[in-house]
Amino acid sequence: MSELPLYSMIIDGKPVLAATTFDVINPASGAAFARVAAGDATHVDAAVAAARAAFPGWAALPDGERSRLIGALAEVLQANMPELMRLVTLETGKPQDGLNHVGAGMEVGGAIAWTQATSQLALPVEVVQDNAEARVEVHRKPLGVVGSITPWNWPLMIAIWHIMPALRAGNTVVLKPSELTPVTTARFVELANAVLPPGVLNLVTGAAGSAVGPAMTTHPGIEKIVFTGSTATGRKIMGNAAATLKRLTLELGGNDAGIVLPDVDVKAVAPKLFAAAFHNNGQTCACLKRLYVHADMYDELCAELVALARAVKVGDGFDPASELGPIQNRMQLEKVEAIAADAHRAGGQFLCGGERLPGPGYFYAPTIVVGLDEGSRLVDEEPFGPILPVIKYSDVDEVIVRANRNSNGLGGSIWARDLVRAAALASRLECGTVWVNEHGAVQPDAPFGGIKQSGIGVEFGLHGLAEFTSIQTIKVMQD
Ligand code: NAD
Repeated sequence: MSELPLYSMIIDGKPVLAATTFDVINPASGAAFARVAAGDATHVDAAVAAARAAFPGWAALPDGERSRLIGALAEVLQANMPELMRLVTLETGKPQDGLNHVGAGMEVGGAIAWTQATSQLALPVEVVQDNAEARVEVHRKPLGVVGSITPWNWPLMIAIWHIMPALRAGNTVVLKPSELTPVTTARFVELANAVLPPGVLNLVTGAAGSAVGPAMTTHPGIEKIVFTGSTATGRKIMGNAAATLKRLTLELGGNDAGIVLPDVDVKAVAPKLFAAAFHNNGQTCACLKRLYVHADMYDELCAELVALARAVKVGDGFDPASELGPIQNRMQLEKVEAIAADAHRAGGQFLCGGERLPGPGYFYAPTIVVGLDEGSRLVDEEPFGPILPVIKYSDVDEVIVRANRNSNGLGGSIWARDLVRAAALASRLECGTVWVNEHGAVQPDAPFGGIKQSGIGVEFGLHGLAEFTSIQTIKVMQD
């Protein structure tokens, strides 16, 4: 019998085990460090039943009471920050601090900040008519049970992005974390259940290929699915959700372009561009994934980026010197290798990296490739790893067209000293968020989401909160 710590599901406020378990791997070592209950469709049924039973009471709580309880969840996160940070590094490999401070500390700190901010959001009744004839009010009502399905790259943060607005709006939740990173989420849900009434927040874990995800997306007792993950899975979820006409928020893949104009200070922007592309090893949906650089300073900027890539420290996330950890899983490492091999075949020149690093874990050298254009996999697809194509351009109008010639539309950025020109170009990029002189930064009060194949709907702020509600219009005739 394995001595590894065992994490349960949480259904109706109680820990629930299954007939079997599955292992969770530490990507820095390739070895299992925990076991998790391998749930199935029957556990989804039980969790949905608990969430449905809890819904009327939770939805009927005074709004201020729900706000207070969500504030209490922020305190729970805060009080358990060291343990949660340790679990984040164990299961994702990301450093405790990390390049540009993007690491486990940011993940748990962000979870706290989002929880606090979401506890303060409110969607008051909107009055669209109030005169002698009639009063017309627009009310926001909770949907019922929300199913949340999360990916492996920011497991706790993304779970928080799903759970908190769902609860704030008065819904109850059934959450399924990625089979690759279920541990921090499981621990958080256990802690949260000491604060929330039973059944309000349930966790069902499933092994790779389990029936848990499909059982949720087809379940007649779930009103909405909020999903963050790959575009391919998003399409399956949308198909499965059709029969029950579920509401959907889909936060899917990105292949964000960054465009560097010739007026920049190369030395000043290079570290910012490097961090935007390589933080969390490129495993963030809104990492900079295609870098277009003007021919005037192309060679100079490439040299700066290569110097940064060679200097960055890759290692175990618990080593305080490590800025980048391993790739999170073997399949993703192999995908990065396949895209790198394709880049070689397509004539790309590797200025640095292009190979695994020694060690038992899934380490890969930060890699910069030049000499490729659209039409190669590395430029057209999201590699989701530490490999960046730097693409030369000479005409600004043309580069906007090239940047838009991609099925993804999550984020993009313009890098320039002339902010007026940059803002005008920003509005021509086809994506949900455009940054000027930064890339990928999100905040709890600004909506974030993808267009085109990057998703449907937004998260954060009042726009994000509204997605967890339905509208009820009430018209009262005045005589
Ligand atoms: P994935 O699609 O492989 O898995 C995501 C989740 O879906 C996991 O929990 C998985 O178990 C579950 N799942 C798999 N098949 C399912 C099915 N048929 N029905 C229901 N659930 C199913 O994604 P991943 O590899 O974990 O995450 C990486 C991807 O997520 C990247 O493409 C990245 O860009 C994207 N992402 C997007 C955002 C965003 O906000 N747009 C944020 C983070 C990550």
